[in-house]
Amino acid sequence: MTKHYDVVVVGAGIFGSCTAYHCQRLGMRTLLLEQFNLGHSNGSSHGKSRITRYAHTDPEYVPLVGDSYSQIEQLEKMRGEKLWNKLGLLWAATGNQVQSISGHLQAHNIEHEVIRGNEIPKRYPQFKFDEKWTGLIDPMGGVIYANKWLNAFQEEFKHLGGTIQENEPLISHDESYDSPLELTTKNGKYTSNKIIFTVGCWITKFFPHVNFKIKVSFLLSSFFHLTYLQPISLAVCYWKAKEENQRHLLDEKHFPVVIAKNLEKKEYYFALPDTDYQGAIKLVLDDGDELNEDLSHPKKNNKDFVDLPGKFITEHIPVVDGTKPYKVDQCKYTNSPDHHYLIGPVSSETSNILVGGCGSGSGFKTAPGIGRALAEMAAGKKTTVDVSFFSPSRFVTPI
Ligand SMILES: Cc1cc2nc3c(=O)[nH]c(=O)nc-3n(C[C@H](O)[C@H](O)[C@H](O)COP(=O)(O)OP(=O)(O)OC[C@H]3O[C@@H](n4cnc5c(N)ncnc54)[C@H](O)[C@@H]3O)c2cc1C
Repeated sequence: MTKHYDVVVVGAGIFGSCTAYHCQRLGMRTLLLEQFNLGHSNGSSHGKSRITRYAHTDPEYVPLVGDSYSQIEQLEKMRGEKLWNKLGLLWAATGNQVQSISGHLQAHNIEHEVIRGNEIPKRYPQFKFDEKWTGLIDPMGGVIYANKWLNAFQEEFKHLGGTIQENEPLISHDESYDSPLELTTKNGKYTSNKIIFTVGCWITKFFPHVNFKIKVSFLLSSFFHLTYLQPISLAVCYWKAKEENQRHLLDEKHFPVVIAKNLEKKEYYFALPDTDYQGAIKLVLDDGDELNEDLSHPKKNNKDFVDLPGKFITEHIPVVDGTKPYKVDQCKYTNSPDHHYLIGPVSSETSNILVGGCGSGSGFKTAPGIGRALAEMAAGKKTTVDVSFFSPSRFVTPI
């Protein structure tokens, strides 16, 4: 007999795992489907670390971060497990960006500090910035223990009675919008009242025809003109200290999480202490190569995505050896055209099919808040955090 669920969440990355947990918590019988094994490294949610921070270029993110922070604090207490390290964020930027971020943080009463670029090395001796740069210190920023978050949400989901099916890709789904919706997977069929797609870059494989023409992407930038989503592959580079006796400067006690934006050169970097590989910071350029047609990574990333971070290190983090990375991993990014998330129903006509996606380089820290919002939408409730800014309907053009 075909199994029926209140909600099927497709994709067990961090978005799907948080969403499934909240659905089950709200009393909905939930199935979480994953095409690979849990904890695989083919998507965007693998690895040991991510950055968390209140500081953001757009104020709409701040309440989502706040909701995620309170969830993680509760989860830490509940599980007796350390899930993050609030070691502080340094945001260094040229131009006036820091002032604008400071304005958003002030509006939300978030503690922070703005310092001149040449004062940054007094705070963090690893760095070298001049007066063209300004620094913002966000003391609530820090390292997310990413694999622990993923595992915690999946385990808590199961404790609440949720079902996870791994190695079971969804092949097709009912697009009629009438509940119950039918889903066909590699192993069989299910029915569900709601489907929530949290499929990362595989979003491009779904939604051929929805009333507002979601085709490969969700988006119509103008009548009949489709804008395609193009997920990318990032070269995730790790770098060691020049001298053994400087190695300690790269650990979680000494090295902050960092966002660095040279706005004139349009080069954006992020960096974390040596959480993933002892003795090697992670420093990555926020750009990448196109994925292959089957959404796999290119064999090797373009040399620029390794050379540019190396140059940045040589210029701004003199204790680190920027001549050659210690290691290069890969990770997938999915950006929407305006670089903001997609959270909400795929159609204005129904809330039976929802999507959470386009987390790009910032979605891990907000995933608990996003998951709660998606679950509340599926349950027909008002969302705890207003996520209307992220609604897919912002790209809708009537046909
Ligand atoms: C290099 C890098 C650095 C980043 N740094 C940060 C950071 O510092 N801070 C931060 O907050 N965020 C960061 N991010 C962003 C964050 O990691 C992503 O936004 C987040 O992981 C996206 O998760 P997701 O669940 O949407 O996607 P994914 O993790 O890709 O999960 C989607 C899942 O859906 C599954 N799936 C797809 N199709 C199907 C199907 N048909 N059937 C069943 N399952 C399916 C996939 O197998 C996959 O497991 C970074 C991302 C990258 C790549």
